[in-house]
Amino acid sequence: MHLKTQLVGLIGHPIKHTYSPFIHNVAFELTGLDYIYLPFNVVPVNLKSAIKGLVALGYKGFNVTIPHKVKVKEFMSKISEEAAFVGAINTVLIEDGKLFGYNTDVAGALETLYTYRQDITGNECVIIGAGGSARAVIYTLIKHFRPSKIHLVNRTEQRADALRQFFRTKMKYDSFTVNELIPPDIKELIKNSSLIVNATSVGMYPEEDDSVLPQKDMFSKDQIVFDLVYNPTQTKLLRLAQSGGARTVDGIKMLVNQAAKSFEIWTGEKMPVEQVEKALLLKLNK
Ligand code: NAP
Repeated sequence: MHLKTQLVGLIGHPIKHTYSPFIHNVAFELTGLDYIYLPFNVVPVNLKSAIKGLVALGYKGFNVTIPHKVKVKEFMSKISEEAAFVGAINTVLIEDGKLFGYNTDVAGALETLYTYRQDITGNECVIIGAGGSARAVIYTLIKHFRPSKIHLVNRTEQRADALRQFFRTKMKYDSFTVNELIPPDIKELIKNSSLIVNATSVGMYPEEDDSVLPQKDMFSKDQIVFDLVYNPTQTKLLRLAQSGGARTVDGIKMLVNQAAKSFEIWTGEKMPVEQVEKALLLKLNK
């Protein structure tokens, strides 16, 4: 590290379990870019001074995680279309002291699901969850794959309904059903869908014996099951889906793809995603 080294980082609270420093620092090493990524534990009361500090220190940008993803909006000079839709910022670029906010979960979801575009386009989907990541996935699906129907499933049904209203107004898409977790007709919904997404934290470490959908006989080879949870890398939901014959997509893929978009925003260069994913899996499966 020397005077020319560019600085990027992460603010959040807590940040103990983040994989972002590993992902970005491996990518900087692989590409030979003179950058370093550092994590900062910032409690909410210090958010404003932490951001001012990063600007004053000449940071090129930073990632934002829980609990600052919404609050950080008030410090931005401009926010991207995706960040406005999702209502949350996870990446900030600093230019001439001005802050530009992005949400790279949308690009991460698109890149991750693009391989399956023919199976998804014009077909039905089940989305479980109604938080920030569900919003990013639904925006991506409507904008790029236009499913014939989206079945929203969430523990708090009103939240799923609010999501439906949002997309009806903002994207003129209203082909939704809204359901509690788990609706009595879940088998039917899943049978008719080509994509099933878990956008809840169910199944995440240390509760890795949990699964939002508990039976393998719900799945078949005609489905793609995408779990956003990335710790553990192979969740119980993915294992059940695989034993039912479905194709599965893990949260690590989206994590690396959304990081790749942040990397590009800061550096203008492409992240070598396959090599980074391989390095991350090697580290996690040690
Ligand atoms: P969020 O905004 O807090 O939303 C959480 C969602 O999970 C809500 O729908 C919530 O339901 C549901 N939920 C939480 N605990 C539950 C339980 N015990 N039973 C049933 N439903 C439950 O969180 P988020 O940002 O959307 O993140 C959701 C998950 O996606 C997390 O595990 C996160 O790590 C992961 N994620 C992964 C990536 C990636 O790149 N792979 C990116 C973003 C997020 P209620 O509405 O009823 O509370």
